[in-house]
Amino acid sequence: MRISIDAELCQGHGRCYEIAPELVEDDERSRGFVITPAVPAHLEDKARAAVNACPERAVSISE
Ligand code: SF4
Repeated sequence: MRISIDAELCQGHGRCYEIAPELVEDDERSRGFVITPAVPAHLEDKARAAVNACPERAVSISE
C-alpha cells in the first residue's frame, strides 16, 4: 500500500498527521506531507483512517 496527499486539495486541517504521525507530518503551514509513502503492513489501518478523516479528500491510498 502507498499513501499520498494532493497538495492542491490540502487545507491544513491536520487530521491526517494526528491520526497517522508515522506516515504524515505537518509542514510550516500546517499542511500534511507524506514521510512514509510505502505504508508498512502494521500501519495500513491508520492509512485508511487518515483517508477517511481528511475533509478535503486530499489523502489517497493505492495498493
Ligand atoms: S487532513 Fe487533509 S486537509 Fe488536513 S492536513 Fe491532512 S491532507 Fe491536509
